[in-house]
Amino acid sequence: MLADHTEGLLLAWRLARLKDEGKLKPAQVSLAKRQNVWKALKAARLARDILGGSGITLEYHAIRHMLNLETVYTYEGTHDIHTLVLGREATGLSAF
Ligand SMILES: Cc1cc2nc3c(=O)[nH]c(=O)nc-3n(C[C@H](O)[C@H](O)[C@H](O)COP(=O)(O)OP(=O)(O)OC[C@H]3O[C@@H](n4cnc5c(N)ncnc54)[C@H](O)[C@@H]3O)c2cc1C
Repeated sequence: MLADHTEGLLLAWRLARLKDEGKLKPAQVSLAKRQNVWKALKAARLARDILGGSGITLEYHAIRHMLNLETVYTYEGTHDIHTLVLGREATGLSAF
């Protein structure tokens, strides 16, 4: 979780610098959203699992965070659509 969190922060920091320089591309935003939301969702699912029954009740809020992230996985561009954007960027071929 810590490694994924650190990688996500570095990615966000790099994109913020590119935006400040006026060089940020839409596909880079897709890459960051896709990776960071996926890693955050993985961490929340793992936390929910580690806490056993307490991960399901609202005692530690793990499942609340997990459900919020399940939502983010779909809105503001679904994971699949960001994947297709990245595929187009890498290959020049659109598979939408
Ligand atoms: C809580 C919440 C808040 C929202 N807020 C906003 C908002 O403020 N503004 C706004 O504009 N929208 C908002 N939305 C809508 C959101 O952007 C859409 O739900 C999202 O884009 C998915 O579209 P859809 O629900 O029509 O699903 P669909 O487009 O039917 O997608 C269903 C599934 O099919 C996949 N899929 C779709 N097309 C393809 C394809 N070509 N190839 C492969 N897989 C594909 C998707 O990835 C997804 O897994 C919100 C949604 C939720 C749940």
